[in-house]
Amino acid sequence: MKISKIAKTPAKPKIIWLNTLVFAITFIVAVLGLPVYCYFYDYNLATIIMFLLATAFCGMSITAGYHRLWSHRAYETNIIIRFIFAVGGAFAIQNSALHWCSDHRVHHRHVDDNDIDPYSAKKGFWYSHIGWMLREYQAHRYHDYKNVKDLQRDPIVRWQHKYYLALVLITNFGFPLLTGIITGSIIGSFLLIGFVRLVVSHHVTFFINSLAHLWGTQPYSNKNTARDNPLVALLTYGEGYHNFHHAFEFDYRNAIKWWQFDPTKWLIKSLSYVGLAKNLKKCPEVRIARSIAAQQLNKTQDRLSSLSLPDKEELIEKLQNEYELLLIKMSDFYRIKKARLDTAKGLVIDNIDLYGQYNELKKCWFEQQKSWQTFIHQYA
Ligand SMILES: [Zn+2]
Ligand SMILES: [Zn+2]
Repeated sequence: MKISKIAKTPAKPKIIWLNTLVFAITFIVAVLGLPVYCYFYDYNLATIIMFLLATAFCGMSITAGYHRLWSHRAYETNIIIRFIFAVGGAFAIQNSALHWCSDHRVHHRHVDDNDIDPYSAKKGFWYSHIGWMLREYQAHRYHDYKNVKDLQRDPIVRWQHKYYLALVLITNFGFPLLTGIITGSIIGSFLLIGFVRLVVSHHVTFFINSLAHLWGTQPYSNKNTARDNPLVALLTYGEGYHNFHHAFEFDYRNAIKWWQFDPTKWLIKSLSYVGLAKNLKKCPEVRIARSIAAQQLNKTQDRLSSLSLPDKEELIEKLQNEYELLLIKMSDFYRIKKARLDTAKGLVIDNIDLYGQYNELKKCWFEQQKSWQTFIHQYA
């Protein structure tokens, strides 16, 4: 008997028809139904405003609730806000918070590992965007919630998980119906707030797993595929600063500069101003600065190594010296900054001239940064 030498490609897991049909039908109805409806009827302003509010409600229940609150415990909030996020998450039809967070924690822990990361971007755009939900790729660990035991202690998470299907049906029929009754356009409301809103919130979240791992820059780390992309951030309520997020996942922010678009961070911060959120976790500035510098060092070293320059060895040595000097000035500055803050808070009573030292060290740090930037930009 002849044994075939050709290795058989493993059969693909079974299709999950429920997911496939939900994604396909909602997409087709939204894409075909909306232009047809707009051709024959007009949308009133109230329906459009309700659509925008419903879309943002779904999106931010995922980003501020499922993601930063529950998956990463980046802050704490009270039961009412958690209830609102749980309802919004069911409205977004993205599985229960418990299940979503379990997948997401696996994603962070085993990012880019094609065998374990549930939506590994290394398997391509389609797989990380939606393909991973269309077949039984995760069947072996579908009900394994070992990594979210802390969340099982949250009564809201338990309640939402138990009544998830009922909540999906109530929100997805209830909100469009209610809006339709108020605005006098039931069909228009079901189309826009039912279907279009769902498709938009689905794909916006899916972009975080696909685009945010494939398109953009890596200012903080290149240990995984996560990327920063302001355009993706614009679509995803700030989650597009994904390189920062994977580097400092417990930080409640994804964007750290004031001008970067991160409405999820603004929402959490605003909640804290009115006493509805507390213990907002932030990575120390010095750690962030160190990561940026290390990443710049790696990139410049790689670039220099690839060039054929007669004085390459000396340049690499100079780069290393500049880097070490940068780290010294950086830690001096951040140390005095912390001392100044502690003194201002009354935590430490110090008689030394903190203000004078602070200004001096800040100047040194800025000067060294300038020298470092000038050096590395020659080989960018
Ligand atoms: Zn990711
Ligand atoms: Zn995350």
